[in-house]
Amino acid sequence: MRDYTYGPFQSRRLGLSLGINVLPNYKVCTFNCVYCEIGSTDKKNLVPPNFRIKFPPSSKFRKELASILSLVPHLNSITFGYNGEPTLNDHLLDFLNIAYEVRENCEWTGQKPLLTLFTNSSTLYLEEIRERVKQFEFILAKLDVATDDDFKRTNRPHNKSPNIEAIINSLVKLREEKTVDHKLVIQSLIYNSYNRDFTSNNNNSNLDKLALALKRIKPDLVQIYTTARIPAEYYVYSIDDTRKNEIVKYLEDLIQDKSITINFY
Ligand code: SF4
Repeated sequence: MRDYTYGPFQSRRLGLSLGINVLPNYKVCTFNCVYCEIGSTDKKNLVPPNFRIKFPPSSKFRKELASILSLVPHLNSITFGYNGEPTLNDHLLDFLNIAYEVRENCEWTGQKPLLTLFTNSSTLYLEEIRERVKQFEFILAKLDVATDDDFKRTNRPHNKSPNIEAIINSLVKLREEKTVDHKLVIQSLIYNSYNRDFTSNNNNSNLDKLALALKRIKPDLVQIYTTARIPAEYYVYSIDDTRKNEIVKYLEDLIQDKSITINFY
C-alpha cells in the first residue's frame, strides 16, 4: 500500500506527474473552494494560514518514492499537493529534501522531473513560508480571483486569511525573491455557475482586476484552466475551450506585456 504517492498521471499542465501528499489522510486547507475536486473542506479542517501541522515524513516515504521513481525514468514532475494546502505542513522541506536526494540517485531518460509545488497562495504573506516555497523548482500558485467579493464567493477562505490584495502583494514578493532558474506559474481556475444567485469568477470585473494583478506579479507563465472533475458545489460547471481562448485574449489585451505568457489548458 502507498501512503504518500499518487499516480503518475498524465497532466496537460505538467506532463507525466507523480503526486506527493504531505498532509495527513484528510483534507486540511485554508480555503473551501466551490469547485474543489476533493470535496468541501470540513469546518474543523478549514484552518487559518498561520496554522501549522507537524507531519514529518516517515522512513517509508523515501522507500516508496525510490521504488516508484525507478519505474518511470521519463517522469516530468514530482508534484507536491493533493489533500489540501501543503505549506501548512511544517515539515514540507523535509519531504522536499528527501525527494531531491531520491531524484538525484535515479537514472532519467531525459531531463530530471521538476520538483513542483501546488499552493493556494494564502500562506505566502509569511516570509518563512516564501522561504520554503522558493526552494521548489516549479511553483504553481493559485490566483482565481482579484476582487474580495470574488475571493469570498469562489475560494471561501478562512476568516483569518489575508485579503486578496495582500495575497497579490505576496505573489509579487515571491517572484522578486525566488531564484531566476525556479519558475513561478499562476494558475487561474475559471468556472461557470448554474445558480442565478451565485456569480462565478467568470465575470469581467474579476478578469479586469486579475489582469492588473498579473501585470504586477509578472509570473513566468499564467495557466487558465477549468474544472475537470466533480466540484464541491453542484452549481459549478466548467467553461469551454472557446471561452478559455476568449479569456486569454482578453487578459493579453489588458496586460499588454509580451513577457507574460498566458496559456489555456
Ligand atoms: S485550495 Fe485547493 S485543496 Fe483547498 S479548497 Fe481550494 S481547490 Fe480544494
